[in-house]
Amino acid sequence: MDGSVRGERPYRGRFAPSPSGWLHLGNARTALLAWLRARALGGAFVLRVEDLDGPRSRPEAVTGNLEELRWLGLDWDEGPDVGGPHAPYLQSRRSVLYAAALERLAAQGLTFDCYLSRKDLAELASAPHGPAGAGEGAYGAAERARNVALTAAKRAAGKAPSVRFAVPDVVVTFDDLFAGPRSYDARREVGDVVVRRADGLWAYQLAVVVDDAAMGVTEVVRGADLLPSTAAQLLLYAALGAEPPRFAHLPLLVDGGGERLAKRRGSLTLRELAAAGVRPERVVGLLAHGLGLVPTPTELTAAELLAAFDPSRTAFPEARLTDAELAWLGADA
Ligand code: GLU
Repeated sequence: MDGSVRGERPYRGRFAPSPSGWLHLGNARTALLAWLRARALGGAFVLRVEDLDGPRSRPEAVTGNLEELRWLGLDWDEGPDVGGPHAPYLQSRRSVLYAAALERLAAQGLTFDCYLSRKDLAELASAPHGPAGAGEGAYGAAERARNVALTAAKRAAGKAPSVRFAVPDVVVTFDDLFAGPRSYDARREVGDVVVRRADGLWAYQLAVVVDDAAMGVTEVVRGADLLPSTAAQLLLYAALGAEPPRFAHLPLLVDGGGERLAKRRGSLTLRELAAAGVRPERVVGLLAHGLGLVPTPTELTAAELLAAFDPSRTAFPEARLTDAELAWLGADA
């Protein structure tokens, strides 16, 4: 299947933060580029809060993340605070849509109850003939068989199952706007993904597809860490009869040691930079430099950057935050 096929729908972009903490510079980099593309292409920009994971979501981060993005100079046409035709824009209020999608998958025989615990999965992954890359192996034939073998006993013991989407035996190809052509063997590299967790929470893979489809999103700009998830999501679009967006996966922002920025690394959150007196123009300038949009870090508003932004540019480097850049930002303390 080819996920790049799409009609001439009006451009609709989005940013979809998970409010498990304050936004860090890596989140800001993605949000800024998603906003620049939507605005430069004359499209709509949607803000959707992915607060599905009740235990990890922090209520103060739901509004906090919106404030952080506004501080940066971004705006949006639809979102939890401004409303819009596809409200609600909080995933925690959209369960009815996820339930309908799950029903649609189940009616096609594409889902199954999975009783395997983390421990069961880890044991399978470390078995001599288990999937390669223990712990990250795709949920495949061995897992399916083990699940069947354990189902009766686990059910009798009252264990609640998760629900998985059974991926077909196909190769998924798509042409990523930033990352180029990609190809994934669904059974070997993607595996059967969880669509509803055993604790009843909706899983990201299902919710993101249901929402991007329902909200008419035509382009998803997000971090390259989600590239492998895209194959699973394209299979879900196909199974749900929905038109997929174009995907544009941005190389990540890493720290001086080459490590990806974790959301919990306090000193690099927008909130803490603001509290330390750093101006948003400095943050935008630093991010613009990391994206290769300006030759040297320069103070810029998001609006000024937009005025000079060329949406035909699709090559963006991985950006490393050096000590010199952090010093320029004023965040080296
Ligand atoms: N909510 C996800 C995150 O913050 C982003 C999902 C997406 O952009 O598809 O990592």
